[in-house]
This record gives sequence, C-alpha cells and structure tokens, in this order.
Amino acid sequence: MAVWGAPQPAHITFHALYSLQHRGQESAGIAVCGRDGKMERHAAMGLVPNVFDAETLDALDAVYDSAPGSAIGHNRYSTTGSSEQENTQPFVGYTAGGAVALAHNGNIVNAKRLRHELEGDGRVFTSTTDTEVVLQLLARANTEPDALAWTLSQLEGAFSLVFLFSDRVELARDPYGWRPLVLGRFPDGGWVGASETVALDAIGAEFVREVEPGEIVTIDDSGLASRRFDEPVTPAHCVFEHVYFASPASRVFGSTVQLVRERLGERIAEENPVDADLVTPMPDSGRSAATGYARVSGLPYREAIIPNRYVGRTFIKPTTGERAAAVRLKLNVVAEIVEGQRIVVVDDSIVRGTTTRLKMAQLRKAGAKEIHLRISCPPIHHPCYFGVDFPDRKELIATDRTTQEIAALLGVDSVAYLSIEGLHEVVGTPEVPGDHYCDACFSGRYPITIEGELRKDALTKHC
Ligand code: AMP
Repeated sequence: MAVWGAPQPAHITFHALYSLQHRGQESAGIAVCGRDGKMERHAAMGLVPNVFDAETLDALDAVYDSAPGSAIGHNRYSTTGSSEQENTQPFVGYTAGGAVALAHNGNIVNAKRLRHELEGDGRVFTSTTDTEVVLQLLARANTEPDALAWTLSQLEGAFSLVFLFSDRVELARDPYGWRPLVLGRFPDGGWVGASETVALDAIGAEFVREVEPGEIVTIDDSGLASRRFDEPVTPAHCVFEHVYFASPASRVFGSTVQLVRERLGERIAEENPVDADLVTPMPDSGRSAATGYARVSGLPYREAIIPNRYVGRTFIKPTTGERAAAVRLKLNVVAEIVEGQRIVVVDDSIVRGTTTRLKMAQLRKAGAKEIHLRISCPPIHHPCYFGVDFPDRKELIATDRTTQEIAALLGVDSVAYLSIEGLHEVVGTPEVPGDHYCDACFSGRYPITIEGELRKDALTKHC
C-alpha cells in the first residue's frame, strides 16, 4: 500500500491497511520519509488497530509538518520467513542511492540463491524474508543506469512491490501479475497504490487502473511515469484470489470478486446437484458461493452456522484439542435449522481438512440427517510458491485420496469439488481469459520452473 502527495499520509495508510486486514493478520507497519531522507517507521506484530494508535500515526505524519506527504504500509501474511518482529514490513534501508522503504506482496522463488550470492559478497541480513533480498539487491545496483529495473529483473516469482524514497514512490508488479496491484487517485490530487480496490474505497480514492505485469510506475512531483523492466508474457494471475483471498467487495484482475464467487457457486450446483432440503454457507468464506448454489439449485438458503465475529483466524491453535475448542468458540450451529434436514454446506476450499472435519462434526451433533459438502474450487493437490501459504503435499487432505475417502474422513455423506474447466470458465472474461490464471495448486502446472524444494523457512539462518 502506498500514498503520494496527500495530507496525513500515515493516517490514510492506516485506513487502507485496515480495509486490507484480510490479506495478512500477523503484523502491520507504515513507513514515511521526509524530503531530507529521514525515514520513520512503525511496525509490530498484531492486527492493524492494535499496532497503531492516534499517537503513533501523528508522530509519523509529523515528518511532513501538515504538508502533503507520502507513506507506504504493509500487512503481513508469511510465505517465506517466520512470523516475528524482525520480519515485519515495510523494510527500511539506507543505500548509496538514498533512504528507501519497501513493502512486498508475493513470494520470490529464487530468493535463496540470490541471498547466498549477496552473502558471498559480504552483505549482512537481519531477517529471514525474501523481501530483504530485494532491498539488498537494490543497494548493490546503485551503479546500474536504472537500479530498480535491474533489481526487479533479477527476481523470479510473485511480487507486487511498493517503494518509498525521499522524492518519489514507485510501484512494480512481476511480469506474470500473480498478485494484484491497483493504482488510484484522490479527487483533490495525490496518488495511491494498493493490493485491492477496497482500499481505494476505504480512503475515498478513485480507481485509475491496474499496475501492469512487468511495469514500474513512478510517482513524483512531476506526476506519473511508467516504464517496463521485463518483456510481456502470458499473465498467471492467482485464481485463489478469486476463490478465497481477496475481499468480495474488490475488483481483482478485472472482475468483481463477489460476482465471481457467486458464479462459482452456481457452477458447482450445475456440476454437482444433490437432493437436499437446504443450502447453508460455511461462514464467511463460503457465503458468496452458497448464494449462487442456492439460486441454481432452487433450494432454500438458510444461515445455520453462525460465526463469532470477534474470534479471528489467528485464534486457530496448533493442537487438535485446542483447534476443536477454537472452532466451537468461533462457530455456533442453529440446531433448529439443521435437525433432521438433508443439508448442502458450501465452502470455498479445503486445505488440510482439519477445521472442516470439526465443523462437520458440530453439524452432525446438532442433528443434521445428511451433509453434502460442496467446494467452490477444485481439490488442492500442490503447494503454492507464489504467495499463498499452502502446506506440503503430504498435509493436504486431497493428496492421494478419492472424494469418497475425503468424505469419509470429514464425516459427511458426500463431497464434491468444482472442476478445473468450470473454474476457468467462470474466472475468464473477454479481456482476461481463464488461461491467464495460475491454477498450479489444483493442476500442478507451474507457470515457471521451480528450482529444488522451496520451504517457508528457506532463508532461516541454518538452512
Ligand atoms: P481446513 O479444513 O483446515 O482445510 O480449512 C479450510 C478452510 O480454511 C477453508 O474454508 C478456507 O476458507 C480456509 N483457507 C483458505 N486458504 C487457506 C490457507 N492457505 N491455509 C489455511 N486455511 C485456508
């Protein structure tokens, strides 16, 4: 998230980060930079409203002394490196080219090799994330005619990046466009770069356009300029943004997420009808698809599973006993709706199946006669290396199991997933066909070759 040329940029960034909380709940941070190159940063573990208060935001904005200024911000969801303070973003550094802060959404797949090269050059790292590799590359690139373009051309994998310098903000997106990045404008002047359009709505900015894959957008006192750092390739937008990750209220890759999800639900109803009494969503992730399923099936839509809004995802604990307690606290079943009924439960995805199994047990306990689980994406068979934290193959419930075996394991009467063809037809638009999406987690077709095994802890000290 980046703001340029607006009064109180830290306050604006705070609101935008709040609206993007769904993209990362581990840590949050904001950096500002005065014209004298003095960088200020506040970042900590936790949710946006817990990390910032009026005092910290005022202190950041004080750098600009009431004049329009700039800021970048970040919510972390880790895919490389542990979840701890040393890995919070934005990352700040002082290079021969001046002070710089950067924030990264994605996963850089050649980070380990690049880091070894940089360490061989005598560079010191203070974190275990791939983002610091970008900063160190940029520091080394100061003799290149275009240091940023050179740096980005060394990276492989998924990266939507925002950079803050004393005199400009730069936004960049990898050539495949895995992760979204949009450009917005305030009616009174000033620019915004954000992962999703909900952030623009939250701060009163208007959507201008997406940052193009392979593009660098520079915003400074002379306005906006664009250049490319790589040749265009067939895009590989992450289809899981539409399935689960992005806010339903956002427009992502040219389509409104809520409408795509409803259509995914319609499509699974067309592909997998079932004789039942009602449709109920798994809140909140299955709600949009469940409305689509109900519409096509003609079955009544009932909200039988009620979430506790104040229990976040981060509450889900590691052991099975703790997980069961957390799921009971997070979800309550309305027994009067499910008792004696044949119910279709719609959810967006199953990953390990551990929480789904507990949720299904709650429905059974409340008296459901039959449970038919319908999932609005295909089975997840393969790890993601491009910014979604899916576990190893051996932990994924769909690995080496038939749908009957999965149904037995989850304790339901049937489970059906959306087909890959169905998914592609739904996400495709005349402007962005379905084959412009990365579906590697379902199909195993990785758009780029992955060197060796990539683990989340690849950059920890002893690896
Ligand atoms: P589980 O039953 O443990 O596989 O949890 C599946 C639920 O977690 C789904 O309903 C998804 O909404 C949600 N989910 C989506 N993506 C992820 C992810 N990368 N890791 C864990 N859970 C996820």
